[in-house]
Amino acid sequence: MPNTILIDTSRCTACRGCQIACKEWHELPANKTTQYKWGSHQNPQDLNPNNYKLVRFSEHLDKGVVRWNFFPDQCRHCDVPPCKEVGDIYHEEAILKDEKTGAVLFTDKTKKFSKKQFLEIKDSCPYDIPRRNEKSGLLSKCTMCNDRVHNGMPPACVKVCPTGAMQFGERSAMLKLANSRLATLKKDWPEAKLADPEDVNVIYLLIDKPENYHEFTVAEANLGPMSKKQFLATLARPFKAMKA
Ligand code: SF4
Ligand code: SF4
Repeated sequence: MPNTILIDTSRCTACRGCQIACKEWHELPANKTTQYKWGSHQNPQDLNPNNYKLVRFSEHLDKGVVRWNFFPDQCRHCDVPPCKEVGDIYHEEAILKDEKTGAVLFTDKTKKFSKKQFLEIKDSCPYDIPRRNEKSGLLSKCTMCNDRVHNGMPPACVKVCPTGAMQFGERSAMLKLANSRLATLKKDWPEAKLADPEDVNVIYLLIDKPENYHEFTVAEANLGPMSKKQFLATLARPFKAMKA
């Protein structure tokens, strides 16, 4: 059974330790940032080839009270990854799934994708995760620290989280923990829910409506009543027909 990361947003303080640990483990360079111009502490503004993980800040009014939601955004390591479904049509070895760990991996072969093909891959992701380095052509996203996991260590982001907002382990154990924590939080936060727990290996526990975190918090918002697996089946069909 694959591994799962559980992210309990009720415990996230937006310290951004996970964001920095990710950059350090992957030796990603710094970005030049312009926080004072865009009016948010979310920094940088979006995921990019140097940030596989981004703590999103969302400030909104709830019955006259200001609420500030934090969302450590990253690849969900989907059970059936749409990015791979689309990528395989053009270059089968470029996007891999490690069935042992559950990690979905963008390899060096992703530089073979044209910009148009990248945009198709990006559009296929219900969570708007894939990014492209315009110089090298490489596609980028979270790796679940697959090298660490194969050596018995948790992902760097999980290891560094000081509040216990991030947990990592075997999928069934994480689901059990998620449901137990959800039951507790529901008492004070009736809107609490797990984000797409059946379809992904990075499960978010939300205490507010998904749209109050980020546009792409859950897949359902974009798919309506269709399940993600149904969506994937319909998605791959036209591309496969094109290739044939
Ligand atoms: S979240 Fe997006 S990039 Fe990550 S595995 Fe799923 S489809 Fe691919
Ligand atoms: S390290 Fe933990 S508390 Fe800090 S931003 Fe990341 S998830 Fe939130």
